[in-house]
Amino acid sequence: MFGPGIYVTRDYSKATAFARHHRKGTVLTLAVDMGKCKTHDASGCSGGHTWFCSCRKWREEGYDSQYVPRGEGVLREENVVRSNEQIIVTGLTDIS
Ligand SMILES: [Zn+2]
Repeated sequence: MFGPGIYVTRDYSKATAFARHHRKGTVLTLAVDMGKCKTHDASGCSGGHTWFCSCRKWREEGYDSQYVPRGEGVLREENVVRSNEQIIVTGLTDIS
């Protein structure tokens, strides 16, 4: 939705919903360094993201991550991080 990256959320119900898409899912608890983070309002896209919309420009603008608040084009907050070097896994929870 916001281009290449690692998608993370502070919304546990969103994480478990994604995990439940799989027969045996796991939710990872993470410590994330957002670095230089862009706050983006994606409500102008109304779900019609393209390769050229502004939602994907955070990388070329030099940001380490992008945060889209709940209600600004997403139902629940969305965060995307540039590199796995910004993330430490601190826990695992199997969802079944
Ligand atoms: Zn967009």
